[in-house]
Formats: sequence, C-alpha cells, structure tokens
Amino acid sequence: MTCKEAVQYIMPYINDEMNVHEVEAFLTHIRGCQECYEELEVYYTIYAGLAQLDSDSDNFDMHNLLEAALRDSRGRVRAHRNFNVFYVLSQVAAVLSLILLIFTRW
Ligand SMILES: [Zn+2]
Repeated sequence: MTCKEAVQYIMPYINDEMNVHEVEAFLTHIRGCQECYEELEVYYTIYAGLAQLDSDSDNFDMHNLLEAALRDSRGRVRAHRNFNVFYVLSQVAAVLSLILLIFTRW
C-alpha cells in the first residue's frame, strides 16, 4: 500500500467501513510509516474526539485511544486469519475422514 492509498483509507478506517483485508494492509502501512501514522492521529483526534464529546466519557487521551483502536483492529484481523486457518483445516480433516471411510470399507 502506498502513502497516497493509506491516506485515502484514513476516513474509511475511522468510520469502520473497510473489510478485514483492507484493514490488514492499512495497519501494516501505518505501523511502518511515521508520516501516515501522524496523519491518522490528526484525523482520529478530530473525529473520535468529537464523538467523545457527544458521549459521557471524559477520556480525552486521544493517542491512547488511537493505540487501543489499532490494537483492537489488529486483534480482529488476527481472529479472522485464525478462523480461516481453522476452517481450511476442518475441511481438509472432513475430506480425509471421508476418503478413509471409503477405502477402509473395501
Ligand atoms: Zn505512508
């Protein structure tokens, strides 16, 4: 992902409008690119800060809120990947046991 693409993903990221693959690519870029991280932090401070004003929360440590949001996103990407691995393995196991069943009956 280029810096230009990463910057275009900032608002969709904040609004939670990206699929898990886009989020993964976005997070990878943000982690490795200080400029885009700072750009994200500026937008996040403005938009999430406004949302905080509307809520009863008095937590305005936006840097830590952003870090928590990024950790949360990474967790979701990881959970998605683990689920896919589990799904593929269970499919393979099902096919193998079918094959085993067919051949042991002969
Ligand atoms: Zn960048």
